Amino acid sequence: MSNLNPKWFEGKKALVLGVANERSLAWSIAQHLHQGGAQLAFTFLGDSLERRVRPLAESLQADLILPCNVTDDAQLDTLFSQIKDKWGSLDYLIHSVAFANKEDLEGRFVTTSREGFRMALDVSAYSLIATAQRAEPLMEGHEASIITLTYYGAKKVVPNYNIMGVAKAALEASVRYLAYDLGPKKIRVNAISAGPVKTLAAAGIRNFKTMLASSQEKNPLHENISGDDVGALAAFLCSPLGKHITGSTLYVDSGAHIMGG
Ligand code: NAP
Repeated sequence: MSNLNPKWFEGKKALVLGVANERSLAWSIAQHLHQGGAQLAFTFLGDSLERRVRPLAESLQADLILPCNVTDDAQLDTLFSQIKDKWGSLDYLIHSVAFANKEDLEGRFVTTSREGFRMALDVSAYSLIATAQRAEPLMEGHEASIITLTYYGAKKVVPNYNIMGVAKAALEASVRYLAYDLGPKKIRVNAISAGPVKTLAAAGIRNFKTMLASSQEKNPLHENISGDDVGALAAFLCSPLGKHITGSTLYVDSGAHIMGG
């Protein structure tokens, strides 16, 4: 793993949501921030996840490892009040969370249920707003950075991505509106649109292997990306090099998004 400057994140504090295991994109980002000297806090979703997340978090000397279901306002309130008690401020928020019912990630989009739509949008898009509004008072005046993860299925139809494409479109629009609101407080908000990487969440998408193979065949570099590429871009965005980038969706996908049919 390479990093831009080993000292850039010294004294900085980062909250990382969305580590499920060592394949998670959030884990790659956490490793890059840690390498630059950041102090870290992690969240986990349930007891089984805590068993997987705790050893990973401890390996990076995390200051806090806390439960958080992003659909639960009380848990979010507790999370941010614990961050405030421990750190008093926050520099980086990594939002790397998404969920849709499995039946909504295959077949025809037209069959999406009201509940499936609500669930996908709540976990995958509203949660960025819910976390940003709680992070704002801790980030104000810190040249802070909020980063979320998205995918090209927000822009164009990717078979089987279905409701998640709609959720990611809402997420990318939320990034722009949040960037506008939070910009005067020097809080930047960006999305990283990653090419396909084999993770737990990706395994829920039908024919994901085909997506991987097709991306490799069609993208200009004929290479798939790794979590490390995402970690490096996130580190760049958090670093002083990214200080005038906000409201953007940046692609790390070997150029797949420039391709036509
Ligand atoms: P991942 O390791 O499975 O991470 C997804 C995380 O979201 C998991 O930790 C998951 O916890 C968490 N999550 C789901 N529902 C939650 C809830 N209600 N509250 C709190 N956390 C919740 O997969 P990943 O691929 O790294 O995904 C991270 C982000 O990258 C997602 O936004 C995804 O859409 C995006 N992305 C992924 C790819 C790819 O190809 N992998 C490409 C572009 C964008 P559980 O495991 O317990 O559900």
